[in-house]
Amino acid sequence: MVNGIRHWIDGAAADGTSGRFGQVTNPATGQVTGQVPLASADEVDTAIAAAAKAHASWSTSSLAKRTQVLFKFRELLDAHRDEIAALITAEHGKVHSDALGEVARGLEIVELACGIPQLLKGQSSTQVSTRVDVESIRQPVGVVACITPFNFPAMVPLWMIPMAIACGNAVVLKPSEKDPSATQRLVELFAAAGLPDGVLNLVHGDKESVDRLLTHPDVAAVSFVGSTPIARYVQRTAVEHGKRVQALAGAKNHMLVLPDADLDQAADAAVSAAYGSAGERCMAVSVVVAVDPIGDELVGKIAERARALAIGPGDRESSEMGPLVTAEHRAKVASYVPLAREQGAEVVVDGTELVVPGYEDGFFIGVSLLDKVRPEMDAYADEIFGPVLCVVRADGYRDAVDLINSSRWGNGTAIFTRDGGAARRFQLEVEAGMVGVNVPIPVPVGYHSFGGWKESLFGDHHIYGTDGVHFYTRGKVITTRWPDPSDGGVDLGFPQNT
Ligand code: NAD
Repeated sequence: MVNGIRHWIDGAAADGTSGRFGQVTNPATGQVTGQVPLASADEVDTAIAAAAKAHASWSTSSLAKRTQVLFKFRELLDAHRDEIAALITAEHGKVHSDALGEVARGLEIVELACGIPQLLKGQSSTQVSTRVDVESIRQPVGVVACITPFNFPAMVPLWMIPMAIACGNAVVLKPSEKDPSATQRLVELFAAAGLPDGVLNLVHGDKESVDRLLTHPDVAAVSFVGSTPIARYVQRTAVEHGKRVQALAGAKNHMLVLPDADLDQAADAAVSAAYGSAGERCMAVSVVVAVDPIGDELVGKIAERARALAIGPGDRESSEMGPLVTAEHRAKVASYVPLAREQGAEVVVDGTELVVPGYEDGFFIGVSLLDKVRPEMDAYADEIFGPVLCVVRADGYRDAVDLINSSRWGNGTAIFTRDGGAARRFQLEVEAGMVGVNVPIPVPVGYHSFGGWKESLFGDHHIYGTDGVHFYTRGKVITTRWPDPSDGGVDLGFPQNT
């Protein structure tokens, strides 16, 4: 188990020296369970220096050496699934089975990275001109900063780290200060897998450490996942300081239900995708767009399922949904329900008064279902990031797609229908990076990349998959001639292929 929350720099745990700490709580009980050191700019500098030093040898290490470490890490992660899931539940609050699912999806990316020799293979063309060959290769970028959110303390770091180090980079990781222990455990397992000192460093912290990572001249690339305002800031600041950036951001994911859909399956999907992990997922369905005349029937089916959900501590086997991450976030989420009522929505299910016996100090909230929501209402316009599902009624397919496409976000979306033609049209017309057809949470598998459009992603690259390889490497093209004795002679003309 994690023995205290500490930085990890150059292959060893390090106590914080800034004198600043944050509090880590168990969201089910509301009790403070740990103190997280918040790194100063100097501590971040030390981690970057360790990474820069390690990068010199790691970047030239053989693919065989890198994959040995990754295969060993895969074994360790597999063996420690339960322990990591328990750490996630203790600090994030999500139920254990959901936490195990997060670890499993992270493991997929480790497995992808184990195949890095195939992914990094270059291209070559022989005899492009007389006695001239061309080879394209990809090389590591250098030191990569990885900054991650609270809602997936294992999976999101695993979207980044295996790919970044497999490509030959060194990493400084700054996880969320709200639930740092699962991430810290991953870093310890990488060390146990034989990753050389300094290749992966961990600094805990807040804005001060992030700002240093974004501006330090020795950081070449920044992978960020978090909320839209911070993602925008991270991208702008890091680009101004000459870095490549991928900043994945917030979302408001719409699920379109056409009248021909199987309404029981659609209601199951909406409830699972809206309330799973208490709605604290960037791919959560937060808006159902019901195409009339099925609106009333669909809302009835969703409400029936929502009322039956078992809400309790994440380490209780019968719990289907746990608490929110902090008291502050709970209060913010709860405020949207009365506001929606005031603004004219129908509150079909109101979960804001829920109390879980024995856990009165926990950050629990029940699930809420708002019907007849309109785009100008705050519950629609904001990313609530909690178990509040909005239903918007639409007159037809065109209305529904126009609504989805006018959203400022474009992370994931889904259509529920039995009509293949409508589904095909939707997948081409809808403005989002990830589309599900009868799949409510279309998180791509590891070998396809993950990313949204519009205000859900700042930067050009999606994360993991082949986009991950491209983000964590730079292209180089080598043109070679082995001259024949007959070659030679001065020629000031622009080189042409002959
Ligand atoms: P957040 O933006 O508050 O924090 C993300 C990271 O940025 C953390 O490491 C945090 O310490 C740091 N940070 C916070 N404020 C900062 C500031 N002012 N300056 C510099 N750094 C700062 O996000 P969160 O609340 O931890 O995570 C939830 C958000 O992340 C939601 O909006 C969710 O949609 C989004 N998210 C997106 C994806 C995706 O793939 N698009 C995946 C997971 C989460």
